[in-house]
Amino acid sequence: MTAVYRGRFAPTPSGPLHFGSIVAAVGSYLEARTHRGEWHLRIDDLDPPRVVPGAADSILRCLEQLGFEWDGPVIYQSQRAPAYHAALHQLRQRGVVYPCACTRKEIAEGARTGVEGPIYPGTCRAGMPAGRNARALRLHTAAAPVRFDDLVLGPQVRDLEHEAGDFVLYRADGVFAFHLASAVDDGELGMTDVVRGADLLESSARQIYVLDLLRLPVPRYAHLPVAVNARGEKLSKQTFADPVDPREPGVVLVRALQFLGHSAPDRLSRADRLDVWQWAKANWRVERVPRVAALPCEKPLA
Ligand SMILES: [Zn+2]
Repeated sequence: MTAVYRGRFAPTPSGPLHFGSIVAAVGSYLEARTHRGEWHLRIDDLDPPRVVPGAADSILRCLEQLGFEWDGPVIYQSQRAPAYHAALHQLRQRGVVYPCACTRKEIAEGARTGVEGPIYPGTCRAGMPAGRNARALRLHTAAAPVRFDDLVLGPQVRDLEHEAGDFVLYRADGVFAFHLASAVDDGELGMTDVVRGADLLESSARQIYVLDLLRLPVPRYAHLPVAVNARGEKLSKQTFADPVDPREPGVVLVRALQFLGHSAPDRLSRADRLDVWQWAKANWRVERVPRVAALPCEKPLA
């Protein structure tokens, strides 16, 4: 029997899970389970310099200790290169991919700044300058807007060509870009729903564009508020966010539920993780998630 709902959690193994990643895991897990759906785990280990040895295993152990149960084998992006190559080949055949010789510095100098940094000015669209070598393959974005209805943040419209610019699919050093890999995985592995942090809202527009070009099914999207510190910075290894302590599952899960707008009683902090999950599955409503892109999380994790 095919599940009508297939969700996933896709951490990057750049370090141990911190509170922000747990929020995304809890939200995607509860959405899947309350729809009697499948929940899959994908390790986004594409970019070698970002991958920390041992981090993937520590993430899996942490999720296990917190009581998450995933379906099927864990998917590793580092093992999916043939699928990404095939997708890239398909896009090249459709004539929407072109080689780009520009360096980061050249782009920064000639570009307007969009929501996510410099917008590629299209320098190599009509061909690379003579004598230059390709540093990347870019996707030619079209003027037509990308529209999607986010389950939490509502209707979204993005003009990729003017707001994001032609984006990289493949780097000359052999690394596939996140947008290509993530779109191919979600589409080919049949994900019906993507629930993740709102820091990936702009990425979703790009991934929908790729999915459409590849004629793959586009999932529904729900973007959860991103946990930020008192200075408004996203929790990450760079902002020295503390890793969560999986030996106290109640504390971690209750805090994530409360962050996501669910008034989990404090007594559950000391309860068995099974009791916490039972409460969470009985009470989860995506409508309760605050409809904002970012929320501060003041309490430091014990
Ligand atoms: Zn270029």
